[in-house]
This record gives sequence, structure tokens and C-alpha cells, in this order.
Amino acid sequence: MIKLDRQNCPNQSALKGGNYKHPDNKNALKKSSYDKCMYCESKISHIDFAHVEHIKPKDKFTDLEFNWDNLGYACNKCNNKKSNKYFDDTPFVNPYEEPPEDNLYAFGAILRPKKGSERGEITIQEIGLNRPDLLEKRAERLNELESAIKACYRTKNLQLRNAALTTLEAEAEKDREYSIFAKAMIESNNA
Ligand SMILES: [Zn+2]
Repeated sequence: MIKLDRQNCPNQSALKGGNYKHPDNKNALKKSSYDKCMYCESKISHIDFAHVEHIKPKDKFTDLEFNWDNLGYACNKCNNKKSNKYFDDTPFVNPYEEPPEDNLYAFGAILRPKKGSERGEITIQEIGLNRPDLLEKRAERLNELESAIKACYRTKNLQLRNAALTTLEAEAEKDREYSIFAKAMIESNNA
């Protein structure tokens, strides 16, 4: 999970008219989360059906069903697992409202709660953010990165090496899949 910035709602009238899935709005949500699930950072393929996610579940917060600030873009798996769960005292981490790294961090391919963060813990557990398919895809991504990092250091020419390392930094950018994990790996390599 990474920090996201909410864009303005492009089609308020559709939303106020009772349609929270209008393509204009769905596209804006998709764009603001870099074409990825707001929770697990998986790119949502055309095959998988992308969901307009109600951050606070619409059956418990009926007044928020058509509220732009309560909408996000999520993959089928996160959306289903999260379902209509909501905990008043430990709300799920909301990447639109707070930096996720206040509660969560990447440890290899695993997402961990920050020490003492019950919100982090419940977010990981209840949305299934360490489910097997995610662990596998993150590990693949990290293996590729590791090979690329090693290749950089095999280059003896410092200028070439620095150019390669700069290219590598782009792997941690927000539009990349599982960028929180890539970023942590690249940063630990720089340390
Ligand atoms: Zn997801």
C-alpha cells in the first residue's frame, strides 16, 4: 500500500444521481491509484474485474454510498476479503488519508504492521495482504530486482554503474506493481 492522492470527482451528478460506478469516476479512481488496487498494489488486468471500493462499507455507512471521499479502486480479491468489515476502534489503513508507512512496512516480500500498530495488523489480516498469490508475485518482482542490482555492481565503470542504478530507482516509483516492496529493497541496497 502506498500513499494516494484523490483527484476531484469528474462526474458529481452521476454520483449524486445514485451511480457510484460511472466510467468517468471509475477512471479517475483508477488513475489516482496508478491503475493498481489501492490495497495490494496489484495491477488490475482487463480480465479481472476492478471494483469501485467503498472504504467504509456501504451497508453500514449508508450515507457514504455516494460520497466521493469514500470511494477507491480495488481488485476482486481485496474487495471480497474486506467485504463489509469495519472496526470502529481500528479502522483499516486508508491510503488516501494517511501515509500507509505510519502503520505498515515491507519486509522482503511480506507486509508487516509497524510495532504496536493494531490498525496495521488488522488491515493485513482482514484484507489478506499476505495471501499466497501476493507473496509469490512480490517474490518474483524482488528476485528480478535483485538480479538487476547485482548486475549493476558487476559493472566496473562507475559512470555506467550509476546510470544503471538510476534506472533501477524507477522500479520503486508509484506506478510500478508492489512498489512499496521494491522501494524497501532498493533503499536497503543504498544503505
Ligand atoms: Zn488488491
